[in-house]
Amino acid sequence: MVQTARTQVAIIGAGPAGLLLAHLLHLAGVRSVVLENRSQQYIEERIRAGLLEQGTVDLLIECGVGERLKRESLVHHGIELRFGGRGHRIDLTALTGGRTVTIYAQHEVIKDLVKARLDAGGEIRFEVSDVSVHDFSGPTPRVRYRESGAERELACDFIAGCDGFHGICRESIPAGVLTVYDHHYPFAWLGVLTETPPVSPELIYTHHERGFALFTMRTTRVSRLYLQCTPDEDLANWPDDRIWEELRARLGTDGGVNLREGPILQKGITAMRGFVVEPMQYHRLFLAGDAAHIVPPTGAKGLNLAVADVRILARALAAHYAGRGMDLLERYSATCLRRIWRAQRFSWWMTTLLHRFPGEGPLRTRLQLAELDYLVHSKAASTALAENYTGLPFDD
Ligand SMILES: Cc1cc2nc3c(=O)[nH]c(=O)nc-3n(C[C@H](O)[C@H](O)[C@H](O)COP(=O)(O)OP(=O)(O)OC[C@H]3O[C@@H](n4cnc5c(N)ncnc54)[C@H](O)[C@@H]3O)c2cc1C
Repeated sequence: MVQTARTQVAIIGAGPAGLLLAHLLHLAGVRSVVLENRSQQYIEERIRAGLLEQGTVDLLIECGVGERLKRESLVHHGIELRFGGRGHRIDLTALTGGRTVTIYAQHEVIKDLVKARLDAGGEIRFEVSDVSVHDFSGPTPRVRYRESGAERELACDFIAGCDGFHGICRESIPAGVLTVYDHHYPFAWLGVLTETPPVSPELIYTHHERGFALFTMRTTRVSRLYLQCTPDEDLANWPDDRIWEELRARLGTDGGVNLREGPILQKGITAMRGFVVEPMQYHRLFLAGDAAHIVPPTGAKGLNLAVADVRILARALAAHYAGRGMDLLERYSATCLRRIWRAQRFSWWMTTLLHRFPGEGPLRTRLQLAELDYLVHSKAASTALAENYTGLPFDD
C-alpha cells in the first residue's frame, strides 16, 4: 500500500536551489517538502562552487541564514588578470560603486540552509530513491518515491525541479516542449583543493600559452587551483608533482611566483559546457538552477544563478498563495531567462578570452592579448567586467 502525504510545493533536490526555495517559502508561510536522493552528510561535504555575488550574499543575510557567512567568509574587492608575464588588478568595488564578491564554499551554504530548515521543523527527506513526477499539467500534481524500501506519494499544488543537471524533472517534460541550447567547450578544468595558504588575497585569472589557470581559495588556509586540460583528461596522468610544476609555470610572472606547495586534498575534472532550456516551466512543474541551465565556471555564475531563480520562484509562489493569482508564476521563465542569458554570455566571453583553443593558430592568442590589454587599460571595459562579475541586478 502506497503511503500518501500532502504539501503545497514538492521540491526535488536539496542543492542550493531546492534548499533556499524551501527556506524562502517557509518565510512566506508556504509549506514544502524537499526530496533528496543523497544523504545529509554527502550534500554537506560535496565540494563545488565558492564565489558568491553581492546579490546572493545580500539575500542570504536578509533571509536569516547569513550569520556564519558574515563571520567566516572572505570579502573581495578586486581580481587580478595575469597575462604576458604581468598582473593587472581590476578594482571591482571602485568600478561598481561599492560592490564586492565573497568567498564562502557552496557546501557551507548548504550546511546553513539545512540547519535553518531542520531547526524550523522543515521536512527534508534524505536518501529517497526512484523519484518520479506525475500529473503536473493539471491542478493536482503528484510525486512518487521510495523511502527505506517503502513506496510513497506526495500530493501537491506545484513541483519545483531543483534536481540539478542530471535530475529527472527536466526529462519528465513531454518531448517537443523545451528548446535546448547546448555547447561543449573543447577543454575542461583540472581542479585541486590544497591545504596551502592563498598566494594572493584575491583571485588570479591567468592567460598563458600553456593554457588557462585560476588561483582561488576557500579559506585563509585552503586554496583552490584550476588548470585548463583536455575534456577527456585522465587524472592518473596528473601526479601531485606535475600539478605543482604546471601551476608554477602558468601562474608565474616576470617577478616569479610565490606558490607554496601543500597536501592536495582533492582532485577532479570539471567539463565546460553552456546549456539552457526554454521555457523553464511546464504547467505546474518549474525548473530552477542547474536543472535548467549550466554555465562554464569561468565567470563563477552557476550557484548564483540557482539562487536568483528560486528568489523569483519563491516570490511568485508566495504571491499565488496570498491570493494575487498566477501572473508572476506564468512569467517565471521569461523573468529568469533574461538574466540567465546575460550570465551565459558573460561566462562565454570570459571563457573565450582566457583559454587556449586547441588547433587554433596564433591569431586568436594575439586577439585575446589585445583584448586583455584593452580591458585593463579602459575604464569602460573594466567596468563592464566588474558589473557582470559582481552580479547583474535581479530583474523582477
Ligand atoms: C564538480 C562541480 C564543480 C563546480 N564548480 C563551480 C564553481 O567553481 N563555481 C560555480 O559558480 N559553479 C560551480 N559549479 C556549479 C554549481 O555548483 C551549481 O551551479 C549549483 O550546485 C547549482 O545548484 P542546484 O541546486 O541547481 O543544483 P545541484 O547543486 O546539482 O543540486 C541538485 C540536487 O538534486 C539532487 N538530485 C538529483 N537528482 C535527484 C533525484 N532524481 N531525486 C532526488 N534528488 C535528486 C542532487 O543530489 C543534488 O543534491 C560546479 C558544479 C560541479 C558539478
